[in-house]
Amino acid sequence: MSDASQKEKLRQHFARRVTTQARVVLDTWQKIHTSNDSLSSHRKDLLSAADKLVRYAQRFEMTGHAEAGSKILRIIGDWPADTCPDDATRRQLQDAFDALARSTLRRTDHSNTDAPHQYRRTPVYIALANSEMANRLIRQLEFFGFRASAFDSARELTEACALHKPETILMDVNFGGSQNAGITTIERLQERHDTPIPIIFMSDEDGTIQTRLRASRCGGEEFFYPAVDPGQLIEKIETYTHGNTVEPYRVLVLDDSRAQAKFMETVLKKAGMRAHIITDPMEIIHALDTFSPEIIILDMYMPGCTGMEIARVIRQQDRFHSVPIIYLSAEDDVSKQLHAMSLGGDDFLTKPIDPKHLIATLHNRGRRARSLLALMIHDSLTGLYNHTHTLYLLDQEIVRARQKGRPLCFAMIDIDYFKKVNDTFGHPIGDRVLRSLSMFLKQRLRKTDHIGRYGGEEFAIILPDTRPSDARNVLNEIRERFSELQQPAGDREFNVTFSCGVAGWNNEPSQTLCERADRSLYASKAHGRNCVTLADS
Ligand code: GH3
Ligand code: MG
Ligand code: MG
Repeated sequence: MSDASQKEKLRQHFARRVTTQARVVLDTWQKIHTSNDSLSSHRKDLLSAADKLVRYAQRFEMTGHAEAGSKILRIIGDWPADTCPDDATRRQLQDAFDALARSTLRRTDHSNTDAPHQYRRTPVYIALANSEMANRLIRQLEFFGFRASAFDSARELTEACALHKPETILMDVNFGGSQNAGITTIERLQERHDTPIPIIFMSDEDGTIQTRLRASRCGGEEFFYPAVDPGQLIEKIETYTHGNTVEPYRVLVLDDSRAQAKFMETVLKKAGMRAHIITDPMEIIHALDTFSPEIIILDMYMPGCTGMEIARVIRQQDRFHSVPIIYLSAEDDVSKQLHAMSLGGDDFLTKPIDPKHLIATLHNRGRRARSLLALMIHDSLTGLYNHTHTLYLLDQEIVRARQKGRPLCFAMIDIDYFKKVNDTFGHPIGDRVLRSLSMFLKQRLRKTDHIGRYGGEEFAIILPDTRPSDARNVLNEIRERFSELQQPAGDREFNVTFSCGVAGWNNEPSQTLCERADRSLYASKAHGRNCVTLADS
């Protein structure tokens, strides 16, 4: 082993010690959340765990962890023993723990300040009669980066919710013993919250319409009956914890009147949308390329050309074929409006425009356009980008990397002996493995990374702003963690591994980059599988 790789190995080893200690601290904090009884002993545990963390982190020069740990120590120092922490202390602690959780998630995220990784800060609560099942779920969820806690009684669950609203609750219909006691608990719980918590109900014995209705009325988004396997559950939990983040719509406005354009900009921004304003029709091509709008608003009459003509130019490009175009004009002649719509427009709004009306139209159009686009660019099994879109994104990122002079990596992943998984456990379980890997990748990579399903059991990852050695380390860490993940199949569990090839961009066309990653992937396979190979630069 070379000197450098030995050093790297050591560094990774120490890094793991620090992150393990960080998890101990986070777990202790979680315990404080879930039991109010023995606070002073928890305070002591927390103090010693955080102290150990700071010492480790300082020794191994992991500043993020050291800083977060010191902050926790300071706050606990101000919190008198034998008392419950007051609200302000709790809030400060929560912030410090969130910072710690973020440091624990991934090293390379920190160098990239314009793309902070959002750690799931809110927990998932589990209230099941079967505690063995609950614990198994918690272990699985942790692998996907969720924080989950299980509860033994309705009282504990209610208290924990008051302290910290969960992202979702997995609830046994009969939790607490008597029939429908779980539903009753949820009904009471929801009364305390303005926006209901999404609930996933499950029941072994009662799937009647009466019970399902009651469950649905108190926020039950899912109802599993009779039995449910953990893999399916985790997919649902993932759905309910992902849906909260809606990216603002990107709206391009072309209007030759600067005053009108400015007004639109203000209205759009106030509604939380991203607006890009141009007043010269000749800038349209450049604006399409750089801003990549999801909705376009065009003035009808401008000097030099009309909005209809611009719409036709926009529609000449495949990529903007389905982007909604909304005309804006003082024209109130309906036949002229209809004519404009026939030339590639989707809507017609007359000036002076009522902001409420405008925003409602944009929301409707935007939502529909997004769901259409999603169908076009995503793989239906995993929800990742499909092959075509992944390659499109790779080309885009290459342009960006060239412009900014930043590094870029491309990785290919292929599941090992996947045919055997299908043969042994059946195709549906095979599909579940594909979904679990895709969730795993989504959870562990940065938001700025692009993940695609390249083919059957092959995945491709684009890592902008990442050096080859960093990409290799990140993927290697993911490989290791994924191989430890227990894949459920009925009562049995099994493990799956993957092989990976990584290539750093060498100022080459995307096709060459893909080929180099692919060759490295096959080197990994030839090397015995379950490993990551970095292409020569
Ligand atoms: P290796 O380690 O060499 O990659 O072996 P392997 O068995 O993974 O590779 P091989 O290419 O021989 O087999 C790939 C298998 O993946 C065959 C195919 O049935 C399965 N597969 C492809 N797409 C899907 C899918 O969408 N769902 C399921 N369940 N299986 C799929
Ligand atoms: Mg394979
Ligand atoms: Mg294959």
